[in-house]
Amino acid sequence: MQSIGHFIGGQQVPSQSGRDTTVFNPATGEPRCQVAMASADETRQAIAAAARAFPEWSQVTPLNRARILFKFKALIEAHADELAELITSEHGKVLSDAKGELTRGLEVVEFACGIPHLQKGEHSLNVGRGVDSYSQMMPMGVCAGISPFNFPAMVPMWMFPVAIACGNTFVMKPSEKDPSTPMRLAELLKEAGLPDGVFNVVNGDKEAVDVLLTDPRIEAVSFVGSTPIAEYIYRTASEHGKRVQALGGAKNHMVIMPDADPQQVVSSLMGAAYGSAGERCMAISVAVCVGDAVADKLIDDLKTEIGTMQVGPGLNQNPEPHMGPLVSRAHADKVLSYIDQGVEEGAQLIVDGRHFKATGGEHGYFVGPTLFDHVTQDMRIYQEEIFGPVLSVVRVASYDEALALVNAHEYGNGTAIFTRDGDTARQYTEQVQVGMVGVNVPIPVPMAFHSFGGWKRSLFGPLHMHGPDGVRFYTRMKTITARWPTGLRAGAEFSMPTMK
Ligand code: NAD
Repeated sequence: MQSIGHFIGGQQVPSQSGRDTTVFNPATGEPRCQVAMASADETRQAIAAAARAFPEWSQVTPLNRARILFKFKALIEAHADELAELITSEHGKVLSDAKGELTRGLEVVEFACGIPHLQKGEHSLNVGRGVDSYSQMMPMGVCAGISPFNFPAMVPMWMFPVAIACGNTFVMKPSEKDPSTPMRLAELLKEAGLPDGVFNVVNGDKEAVDVLLTDPRIEAVSFVGSTPIAEYIYRTASEHGKRVQALGGAKNHMVIMPDADPQQVVSSLMGAAYGSAGERCMAISVAVCVGDAVADKLIDDLKTEIGTMQVGPGLNQNPEPHMGPLVSRAHADKVLSYIDQGVEEGAQLIVDGRHFKATGGEHGYFVGPTLFDHVTQDMRIYQEEIFGPVLSVVRVASYDEALALVNAHEYGNGTAIFTRDGDTARQYTEQVQVGMVGVNVPIPVPMAFHSFGGWKRSLFGPLHMHGPDGVRFYTRMKTITARWPTGLRAGAEFSMPTMK
């Protein structure tokens, strides 16, 4: 079986640690490959490679750094089918969804190609007589990224394109569940002309992560994953003097007002709740219906739509199913136990995905689409992130009750309101305590040139990912105040001046 090691100093490096874990194809339950679990020492080797590459890379002009990213963009486009197949065969999401993830990651590369403009800094002429002041956005040094299983291409691409565009070098620690795509991206970066050591991949678990959080050569840590780990990452890396952005879990509510278009609501909700089998940090897992009439209609419509859903392996199926398996046996079992829990807690189980058998994937980690009605605030299925194809309907009597419910939740990643009333929509966007808000848009993931991040226990640290915050995160300001003696004059230059 193929064995995946690390990518250090521009080379594939086999594992030395003697520890590894198996990567499975979630649609079949079959082992795909082994992935190494780096020792502390191997992780330090990756940091050393990044530290060696930094002085030279930070001196490469922003324009030339961007040129490499332009080539990288072209290579991703040329290898899009191969990359999407890798994502599907380790994560399980259907192929069109894997291509969508790749496109959203690619958009961050495109954003980072604008680095000569983004990293211009600020300048003030004559802050005093004959004195100018300017602020430079300097790279931080060696940065680290730790990513979750659910977006093996997009989430690493939220991080490293911006970091390396800003002149940093990088050590990536991907999820051990689907490590092949980040390894392939490392090869494509090298092919695009990225110097060795600028981007490194270390596969592993807590042993590798703990080195990244504590090694003095790491200046900044970006993390995306579950909230307990995000909190640990934020605390530990901060204690060790690093800049940290740690994005955590979510429980995203869609508020449905009585004046919302029912057809638009149900089609938006189906994709947002069950797309990628609910394994998205921006998935809608709670539908908050304002009034029983809204809830009754929605439940009827959802039952009909769920009845038409195709669930099966994400690769080589025609027509492509709407939803694939969950990432692992353990995760599927966890989701199934949440459904049991919901029944025990007294929620009304409208559609039961527990005994679902997908055609063509009998040994895969499938859980069918599941729908609960009459879910209440005190239930664990309401409070906790399930991260599976389980949608809860909560009934409230008024807009104010809906708003209070959303604001009382510990997470604040994404939310949406569906209404035709501008006044209600505007009030919601202003009053809701959530970082990303959709108005008649179910999954309001900001584009690459805006920044991505939640509030409350969905994000630890002040800066969001990519967009303007991403550039701020991966740079630090240096402000120079300069006075020059007057009277110096250069000789004439007759050829068209160019930047060397
Ligand atoms: P996870 O927290 O289990 O793992 C994330 C990363 O942390 C992985 O690389 C993993 O190897 C590492 N890790 C796990 N345990 C660790 C430990 N004890 N010490 C150090 N490192 C450790 O998350 P996951 O299951 O891979 O991903 C799903 C979670 O990610 C969900 O909670 C989801 O909401 C969240 N997520 C959030 C966002 C966001 O933008 N807020 C985006 C995607 C996913």
